[in-house]
Amino acid sequence: MEKQEAAQRLTEVMTKFTGYVGKHLPTDVQAKLKELSAREDKPLAKVVYQSMHDNQEAAARLNRPSCQDIGVIQYFITCGAKFPFIGELEGVLREATLRATREAPLRHNAVETFTEKNTGTNTGSRIPWMDWDIVPDSDECSIDVYMAGGGCSLPGAAKVLMPGQGYEGVNQFVFDVITSYGINACPPLLVGIGVSTSVETAARLSKKALFREVSSSNPHPDAAKMEKLLEDGLNKVGIGPQGLGGKASVMGVNIESSARHPSTIGVAVSTGCWAHRRGNIRFKSDLSYEIISHKGAAL
Ligand code: SF4
Repeated sequence: MEKQEAAQRLTEVMTKFTGYVGKHLPTDVQAKLKELSAREDKPLAKVVYQSMHDNQEAAARLNRPSCQDIGVIQYFITCGAKFPFIGELEGVLREATLRATREAPLRHNAVETFTEKNTGTNTGSRIPWMDWDIVPDSDECSIDVYMAGGGCSLPGAAKVLMPGQGYEGVNQFVFDVITSYGINACPPLLVGIGVSTSVETAARLSKKALFREVSSSNPHPDAAKMEKLLEDGLNKVGIGPQGLGGKASVMGVNIESSARHPSTIGVAVSTGCWAHRRGNIRFKSDLSYEIISHKGAAL
């Protein structure tokens, strides 16, 4: 396939997929909200979950975003070095953002720093944000679309702990962040935690943790145990849906980590709200694709 034709096809698909992600929650998030709603016995919590459900149905029926804040659009790209259109992707994703903003439509959320002007296009300096992982021997490409809303970005924090603070220090940091600011992010939250050397490596991993399914576990047994302990502990705080009290504060806690410097523990928290709009699409080299995040989705 010629590069120009491929770029057109990719732009077409990514425009539609970006708009789709703004209007439909991923399958795992929908299932988790249903599960948490069934577990509640407080009338107010049940009403809030019902309104979330009704909101989702209305968004699909009216073909409108499921929350007015569709966030700053971010693409996390995991691309094979042999994917034939790797050089086209940056332009494709920028154009897809412009077109999805007009066609979906999506609210304008890109304000240029220092000039303090909304660009009106959801594009701007380094926006849409693109994060790249290159996979050496692959000719496929996986793209996560994420809509980073204001409320759900607000609790984000990172810090480098002294080594002696240990995993207890990580635990305390997460609790401090969620109990201080979590309520701003429209709970129940998906809490992404990065544990690494420095603030930027931990922060990147904490965001990547938000792309794992809400009920998934870290493959390392101790990390999985920590996820479960944090989830149970945060749920005991009883923040509940929209912070109005209830059995669950969180949809889940996902930890991602790297090897780190022996003298530091970098820790970061990123949060996803109940309307956790992320989507994953995977392209083969012939540009056939599969939507992984939304079962049965058709563009
Ligand atoms: S936190 Fe999420 S649900 Fe709440 S306003 Fe922001 S994007 Fe919407």
